[in-house]
Amino acid sequence: TAKETTKSLVEKDRENVWHHISAYNEKNPPMVWESAEGAWITDHQGNRYLDGMSGLWSVNVGYGRKELAQAAFEQLKKLPYVPMTQSHEPAIELAEKLNELLGEEYKIFYSNSGSDANEVAFKLARQYHQQNGEPSRYKFISRYRAYHGSSMGALAATGQALRKYKYEPLAPGFLHVAPPDNYRRPAGQSVEEYNIQRAQEFEEKIIWEQKETIAGIIMEPVITGGGILIPHPIYLEKVQEICNRHDVLLIVDEVICGFGRTGKAFGHQHFKVKPDIITMAKGLTSSYLPLSVTAIRKDIYEKFDTGEENSHFRHVNTFGGNPAACAVALKNLEIMERENLFERSVELGERLLNELAELKDHPFVGDIRGLGFLLGIELVEDKETREPASNARVAKIIGECKANGLIIGRNGDTVAGYNNILALSPPLSCTDEDFDFIVAVIKKVFKENE
Ligand code: PMP
Repeated sequence: TAKETTKSLVEKDRENVWHHISAYNEKNPPMVWESAEGAWITDHQGNRYLDGMSGLWSVNVGYGRKELAQAAFEQLKKLPYVPMTQSHEPAIELAEKLNELLGEEYKIFYSNSGSDANEVAFKLARQYHQQNGEPSRYKFISRYRAYHGSSMGALAATGQALRKYKYEPLAPGFLHVAPPDNYRRPAGQSVEEYNIQRAQEFEEKIIWEQKETIAGIIMEPVITGGGILIPHPIYLEKVQEICNRHDVLLIVDEVICGFGRTGKAFGHQHFKVKPDIITMAKGLTSSYLPLSVTAIRKDIYEKFDTGEENSHFRHVNTFGGNPAACAVALKNLEIMERENLFERSVELGERLLNELAELKDHPFVGDIRGLGFLLGIELVEDKETREPASNARVAKIIGECKANGLIIGRNGDTVAGYNNILALSPPLSCTDEDFDFIVAVIKKVFKENE
């Protein structure tokens, strides 16, 4: 019977599948997703949930897009595989399309995941400096609380201790500075002053470490997984100035911020910056298929393939830029444009901030912040002291949202004690009814938790 099948799926999962991040047990099994349409997921028992996290931030056009399935199908029938030592039409067209969205000339290097794209960025930056006559530049600076991936270099760039400490030593040469956390800035300091000061920490690090050793800075435009930390525009402007002053490359991680999540094609387009290297994944295909990109400014690329021996970038991955994933990415970007999803992201994000503004008076809400359709609600035990909310309190709210049919995320940094930020990033294709549902559930759950 259906019920027995159901039971055995969960049991089989427990026996054989090892899940990312969460440990499940009999009382707390993982959700077994069966299908999804628009913003809604259906589990194997027929329960429906609105996916307020878009899978993991990135199913931007929503689920169940037949056009995307069709694009993959047609491409797989026609030509399933090309090693990226060679080329193919979807990869060529996608590179052109990305440059159109970037508004600048970049060379596009394909791989499979966000972690891959960041590894490529680090290798490229080091080789660039070598071929630019500064082989001593090998270090990277990133921020505490940021997440940049799970492989040894990307994890070294990650600034969340709990993800790292059992796996060390990671790739050497990665340094960290604190990110701007405007909500927790010192009392009496303006947001602008505080952001300038935070940016200057990069310069101090560069100077103390000896600037000739620094290859690059990597940062998300908005720290997402570390707690939705939205900088003042002056912050990135200053970081750009510092990079220019010390010949340090600026690598921008757009793995989550890219493709409409913050309301523009790329998160960095909110700010006065010209990244040297940009990494993208997730939203590029709305996560229908794995694909990532490392985009390198053409003037950086000029140091490569100069005709001199070994001036080529040595890096290969089997599946990077595979034809079906590129075809899906192209169709995904077409849907975003046709349905004005970047604009929709701005509109829904603003509406959400307005609708939820009343939560600012809630006893356990310290701060609400957002950019595009990406919202963070910072929970505290005490509004005065800003003590982060307890695990139990955060988990209760998330659990109650789920019981009411809304899946939301949680992030921050467990070790530092700031794992108290609720994250919302629903598909950009949410209908008005979906939007109303999200607002209604959140208001209800917070009311019940006053
Ligand atoms: N950068 C950022 C900002 C991310 O959020 C992630 C994934 N959560 C990554 C990189 C790594 O991407 P992937 O999981 O595809 O390796």
